[in-house]
Amino acid sequence: MNTKFKLENLIRTNVKTLNPYSSARDEFSGTSSIFLDANENPFDNGINRYPDPQQWALKKRLSEIKGLAKENMILGNGSDEIIDLLLRAFCEPSKDKVIICNPTYGMYQVAAQINDLKICDLKLDSNFQPDVKGILDNNDSKLLFLCSPNNPTGNLIEKKILTELLNRFKGLIVLDEAYIDFAADASMIKELYKYPNLIILQTLSKAWGMAGIRLGIGMASREIIEVLNKIKPPYNVNTLTQEKALELLGDEKRSQDEIKLLLKEKEWMLKELRRLSFVEKVFPSQANFILILVKDANALYQFLIEKGIVIRNRTTISQLQNCLRISIGTIIENQSLFMALKEFDKK
Ligand SMILES: *Cc1c(COP(=O)(O)O)cnc(C)c1O
Repeated sequence: MNTKFKLENLIRTNVKTLNPYSSARDEFSGTSSIFLDANENPFDNGINRYPDPQQWALKKRLSEIKGLAKENMILGNGSDEIIDLLLRAFCEPSKDKVIICNPTYGMYQVAAQINDLKICDLKLDSNFQPDVKGILDNNDSKLLFLCSPNNPTGNLIEKKILTELLNRFKGLIVLDEAYIDFAADASMIKELYKYPNLIILQTLSKAWGMAGIRLGIGMASREIIEVLNKIKPPYNVNTLTQEKALELLGDEKRSQDEIKLLLKEKEWMLKELRRLSFVEKVFPSQANFILILVKDANALYQFLIEKGIVIRNRTTISQLQNCLRISIGTIIENQSLFMALKEFDKK
């Protein structure tokens, strides 16, 4: 039990005292046959009405899939919107500090900079695990970003480290589980009730194959969700996104089958990558991508570009010199990649 954590002390004063915008759909959400309350165009084309600001139908489906009450969820225009909402709800610009454990997902830093926050940049250790001592030495920070499996390194954060931080960090812990559906460890959703300081982020962009519709999921205590609801743009998830997500979330088997295939392809790629002479290290991966260390990342990157294949060059990132990140594609795509890699190997 984390006795140091007090949500009240973390909410920005302007947010606490804010009288939120109340939309037409907030003020009347029952069933009626005539809606003359939102200045919409009355002629039905499928999208002439404002969307449900709380996306209840979609949250109901997600709640079945995730095993968590609808009231413990906030949906956003991608996880990126929820990251921004969190910073705006809890962190005072040019005053408050957030902790980022690098190398990790770049949006944490960019979102923090946009919100003019102080950034405590702590390095992950040689196993890409967070620096617990460094984090607890900065226990006056409002928010700590953790990513597990981490992008771009592909590893999970050890459970022991995670629980220690959840028990001892005084601020909010944002645990980004964008890739959890590919991982051996289970999501922390089941343990949310134990940790009032925990916010879990998931997304439909990766395992569910819906990057194009932009839908991110934030999961936390009702109290945290209420604060975020207060400041979110009223209609942040549009009708087309809500409808398409509901449709595709109906087919859990499709997503499970795709995940299985991607994991099988990943095992094959891990094995094949280790056989290439220019590959110095293949990092273990709990996600749908693989990080490799090569002799000359720029040369390989450029060679593949000329073959029409784009991977992610991470060589300019601290601790990732000469590293490249490769997403797992379809069988055909992966085979094309390896044809090119073998050709590069021969040169
Ligand atoms: C891809 C990714 C996301 C997804 O962001 P969306 O805005 O939901 O598409 C979130 N976090 C990490 C670490 C990612 O790699």
